[in-house]
Amino acid sequence: MNLDKVFKNNEAWIKKQLATSKSYFEDLGKGQTPELLYIGCSDSRVTAEDLMGLGPGEAFVHRNIANMVSGIDLNAMSVVEYAVSHLKVNHVVVCGHYGCGGVKAAMQSADLGVLNGWLRNIRDVYRIHKTELNAITDEEKKYERLVELNVKEQCVNLIKTAAVQKAYRDRNVQVHGWVFDIHTGKLIDLKIDFEKYLHDIMEIYHLD
Ligand SMILES: [Zn+2]
Repeated sequence: MNLDKVFKNNEAWIKKQLATSKSYFEDLGKGQTPELLYIGCSDSRVTAEDLMGLGPGEAFVHRNIANMVSGIDLNAMSVVEYAVSHLKVNHVVVCGHYGCGGVKAAMQSADLGVLNGWLRNIRDVYRIHKTELNAITDEEKKYERLVELNVKEQCVNLIKTAAVQKAYRDRNVQVHGWVFDIHTGKLIDLKIDFEKYLHDIMEIYHLD
C-alpha cells in the first residue's frame, strides 16, 4: 500500500466535508457530545462508524480483539468510565461479528503466546455455555453462536461496572448487544434483556 494515497484521501475528504458545511471543522473543534459508546472488534473489516452510518462526533469508540470488556483491562475500563460518567452517553453497544478471528482462535487448541491470556476470556465464555455449544454439531453454527454468546457476556461485564450501574440508576443508560454479519453487511440486534441481566447479577455485583 502506498501511504501517499492516505494523505491524498485526507485532502479529498476535507474538501468533501467543507462542501457540506463551511464550519465543519470549526464545529468539530468545539468538543464532543456523542450519544453512543461503541465497543467492537479491531478486525479491519468491521469499521465502527461506517457500518452504522455515523460521522465524527457521533460515537465514542473502543476496539480490541474480539470486542472484550475485561474488568482488569485498564484501557477498556477507562473508556467505559470516561464515556459513561463524563461524556454521559445514553447507549453502550458491544458489537461482535461473524467470522471473528479472535473467537475462532479461542475455539482451537494452540499456544499463541501473549494472546493466550486474552483468548482465555473467550474460552471462559465457552465454558459458561458449554452445554448449549456442545449440542451444536455444525461447526460454523457453533462458531457463530459463540460470537453471539461472547457479545452477551461482554454486555454482562459492562453491567458489572460501577459506572454503568450508577448511570442506569441516574439516567437509565442502556446496554445493547449487536452482531455485524460480515457476509451480508447486516447489523443484528441480539435484543439482550438488559433489565433481566441487571436484576440477575445485582445480587452479587452490586457496587453502587
Ligand atoms: Zn473479530
